[in-house]
Amino acid sequence: MTTTTTTTERRRLTAIRAAWLFDGVSDALAPNPTVVLDGTTIVAVHGPDEVPDGADVIDLAGATLLPGLVDGHVHTVFDASADPVARLAERDDAAAFAAMTAFARAAARGGVTTMRDLGDRDYLSLGLRAAAAADPGLPHLLVAGPPITTPGGHCHFLGEGAAGVAGVRAAVRERAERGVDIIKIMASGGNMTPGSRPEVPQYGPEELRAAVDEAHRLGLRITAHAHSTQSIVDALAAGIDGFEHLSFMTADGIDPIPDDVLTGLVARAVTVGLTLGFKPVPGAAPPPGIVARRPALMANGRRLIESGVHVIPGTDAGIAPIKPPDVIRWAFGQFQEIGLTAAQALHVCTARAAAALGLGDRKGRLVPGYDADILAVDGNPLTDTEALHRIRTVYLRGTALALA
Ligand SMILES: [Zn+2]
Repeated sequence: MTTTTTTTERRRLTAIRAAWLFDGVSDALAPNPTVVLDGTTIVAVHGPDEVPDGADVIDLAGATLLPGLVDGHVHTVFDASADPVARLAERDDAAAFAAMTAFARAAARGGVTTMRDLGDRDYLSLGLRAAAAADPGLPHLLVAGPPITTPGGHCHFLGEGAAGVAGVRAAVRERAERGVDIIKIMASGGNMTPGSRPEVPQYGPEELRAAVDEAHRLGLRITAHAHSTQSIVDALAAGIDGFEHLSFMTADGIDPIPDDVLTGLVARAVTVGLTLGFKPVPGAAPPPGIVARRPALMANGRRLIESGVHVIPGTDAGIAPIKPPDVIRWAFGQFQEIGLTAAQALHVCTARAAAALGLGDRKGRLVPGYDADILAVDGNPLTDTEALHRIRTVYLRGTALALA
């Protein structure tokens, strides 16, 4: 038996020094950190005077280092224009893929180092996920493929419709065979599709149970887009793992959260992706129906948090100009509006979101052994919400992005 010895030249370490560090889980910032990277990984977090011999030193005076942000719900196929559905319809797959890549790069430059795409067209996000694994300019990506929806239902133009118990089961199987990371099902109608009504369920209890059962049988988690109260009740009863929006929407308003739904969400530790985050854009505003409902939506969000429901950011980035690829930075402020402290809002945008996405062992924290996904901002985001927008640099798996 022969032994082959491979000599690899040791990479130079990088030591990033800054004013403060938020590690993803603490309630306070640590002063004067030195974060040491070896290639794509954080290997040490030291105090100021502990720079390893021979390391390249990056001095970010006045900056706070945070874990890169984690968004649980984006749509890379939508380009955050005034009519992303029409724009997508004009694009063939190659053009759509180029736009999706540009979306992902923009997200990374805005501090988003991990994101979950909950609805593409024709599985294009699988190619983007593969590209991201090899390209240090693209965030880490989890993907659902096209959402499961009824023929002609909400976002039907993203793939093929699925109806009935057998149809839903087949749709889950197809996605599993393609290699998606999670199943997304449109339990109710939605806002972007003409003719679709958010307050009306798309699937009944049996179809939802079949979808959950098939997903779990194939080892996948499943999250439900659900606006209508009935679709929320049915999906919860079906054993759903996550909700998107969870708006309790009626034809003309928002229902209060039924007590038994709240109890069920907590007892079953269901993850709720809240659609927070609106970038102020001159001339662009949320739809009037959302503006009118916003106080009631925010009140429900506050109740979820007070009750201990596991919430994460699920921004729906891409669906409108107020939802650009990096809109999660505006969700940070809105989480505070519904009752989180600034530190808790950072927890949900980093470590807690990463854990909910199944990446809690390598993303969302600045500790040794974790991926070197780092957002450096000017100032202290715990006392100044705007600090999150003053980006100094972003490291994606150890590589500093060029911020144009
Ligand atoms: Zn969405």
